[in-house]
Amino acid sequence: MTAARRRALRPAQWDIAAAPRGVLPLYLTVEAAAVVLLALFPGDTPRVLDWARFGALLVAGCLQTELSLRVEKARRYRADGPHISMTSVWMFSGAAVLPAVMAVGLTVIIYLHLWLRVWWRVQGRSAYRVVYSATTIVLACVAVGPIMKWCGVENVLTEDFHGGLLLLAIVVSGLVYTTINGGIVAVGIKLHHPNRPWARTIGTGSENALELATLSLGGATAVVLVTQPALVALMLLPVVVLHRNVLMRQLEEKAAQDSKTGLFTAEEWRARLATELVRTEGHFAVLMVDLDRFKLVNDTYGHMAGDAVLRRVAETVTGQLRAYDSVGRWGGEEFAVLLAHIVEPGARDVAERIRLAVADLDVTVTIDDTSHVIGNLSASVGLAMYPDAGVTVDSLVHAADIAMYRAKHAGRNVVVSWADQPEPAASVAVPTSPPNLRHRPPSEQT
Ligand code: GH3
Ligand code: MG
Ligand code: MG
Repeated sequence: MTAARRRALRPAQWDIAAAPRGVLPLYLTVEAAAVVLLALFPGDTPRVLDWARFGALLVAGCLQTELSLRVEKARRYRADGPHISMTSVWMFSGAAVLPAVMAVGLTVIIYLHLWLRVWWRVQGRSAYRVVYSATTIVLACVAVGPIMKWCGVENVLTEDFHGGLLLLAIVVSGLVYTTINGGIVAVGIKLHHPNRPWARTIGTGSENALELATLSLGGATAVVLVTQPALVALMLLPVVVLHRNVLMRQLEEKAAQDSKTGLFTAEEWRARLATELVRTEGHFAVLMVDLDRFKLVNDTYGHMAGDAVLRRVAETVTGQLRAYDSVGRWGGEEFAVLLAHIVEPGARDVAERIRLAVADLDVTVTIDDTSHVIGNLSASVGLAMYPDAGVTVDSLVHAADIAMYRAKHAGRNVVVSWADQPEPAASVAVPTSPPNLRHRPPSEQT
């Protein structure tokens, strides 16, 4: 018997037993609301034609899953926020043309099929979260029929001026569908990850664009299904290929990301600097930010705590930047920043803000069930301006590096520009006692 099967037989080991507080009441409320709403608004009584359409969508949905098993599994393993399910093409289309109760049945079977074929083997894809996620789609499906009617469309074969009304009804329904589904999922994600900003619970711009693309295909499928049912088969290939391309894109994004901090890798950051060199018509700045005496943090608290500090520093540096600046992890405890379209006084201000923000950081870590606050951190920052300090990737990085080493020699916890006179005494910040370590090392604590 596999471990997963053994676990399935022991309720105390189910993931739901370890769900964060508030999750269970929310999930049960949403699930109860879905049952009540479906009972109140089941839609028209299914006709033979509805069963035929239901069958066509079900076959398409299951075929899509079967043709994308590996892609779906790989996407699931990498999912870190809301998961955009491409099967929404069939489920949204079902919501638009079928009685609500049938659209819900379609959703449940497609989800069950995905669960049995892919998800149950993926760690972290707990059954209770899948049920919740399916419930959000059920709620969205129940809403679509009344919204189409409210827009004046009794069914997809409506006669109106060139389908304009139908287009409006499908767009409004799609927006409501994604708002209900995405909104309720976001609340669930927030309960599981309270520290995650709301913006990351609703997905990135490209994830939401993918969701809208999926719903657009779903809208088109609904019309095809009602007018020329056999042509639904033509929708299958685009969906499968789009799904595959989404995975490729996810892999590319992951490859450009440093796994520890979520910042760009050094290679990706260099590529962005090279692009800036080609694109720029003015000035920009490169910063090298190196944590001071970071080895001491590791030596005192261990590498796990050191990693937690690196992550917080990464967030802190990012928090000081504009959306179009880029920050990468250059190496161990060194960060590279590209400040686009900026002149020297402004760049110096940003560098100073970064230095002060790092100095203000208190990072709480838990070691052997005891909390420790790691404070008194600091960073030395080197600044190089384009074009004065260099006009190539290597020369700019080298100039920022030289400035950063001057900052170290000047006593650390200071910003030095490549253009500064190399007598650091004037800009030396007070060299502190070895940074950090407001607390004694755990090994010395009694
Ligand atoms: P300085 O002020 O001169 O920069 O001193 P420093 O201790 O920061 O510099 P040094 O180059 O001597 O040491 C860098 C340390 O960064 C050594 C290494 O243990 C630590 N480090 C590098 N990468 C990682 C990492 O991924 N995680 C952790 N926890 N530590 C790392
Ligand atoms: Mg260092
Ligand atoms: Mg270093």
